[in-house]
Amino acid sequence: MSNNPLPVQIGLTIITGPMFCGKSAELIRQIRRLRVAKSNVLMLKPAIDTRSASVSTRDGQSLDCTAFASTHHLADIIGAHPNFMLAIDEAQFVLARELDHWIDLIRDEMTKRLIIVAGLNLDFRGEPFPAIADLLPVATKIQLLSSVCMRCGSDNGVRSHRLQGGDTVVQIGDEEYQAQCLHCFSQSVVTARS
Ligand SMILES: [Zn+2]
Repeated sequence: MSNNPLPVQIGLTIITGPMFCGKSAELIRQIRRLRVAKSNVLMLKPAIDTRSASVSTRDGQSLDCTAFASTHHLADIIGAHPNFMLAIDEAQFVLARELDHWIDLIRDEMTKRLIIVAGLNLDFRGEPFPAIADLLPVATKIQLLSSVCMRCGSDNGVRSHRLQGGDTVVQIGDEEYQAQCLHCFSQSVVTARS
């Protein structure tokens, strides 16, 4: 740990949007910027996302990351790093049963340090992920990113369409999804139901 003074930046930034909109790339960009400014930044993500122990972007950028198994585990990690800003990726994977603790934890810590939370806004049915949605009213900055629609090529990809049917809300695997615009998403939903 360095001898930096306590962080002066506090608050909560939320980076959200559909699949393939560059959330992790934006998160990494902001972490690198903070580190240039000599801030300590701890990168975290829920352990349910087992794709790797680092956070990677589709253009090959990668940063080491600490996985947390529960929000109580997260609280322990945060408590052990009082002088660190926090960057939490894939936060939509925080478990529903831990939602209240998650919201309380972030609301408390954002008054002491800067927290950047990145995650999907909506599942493939177009329903909000509460771990992101319930933080939006208390955020100090919200970045809503969009993708290119992978069906029609427009610049308005704002929904995550799952190519295969099924009932599971969260499936990990980018190849199963497309970012789509509202127009294509509504057509895809109709097609999937017929
Ligand atoms: Zn489209």
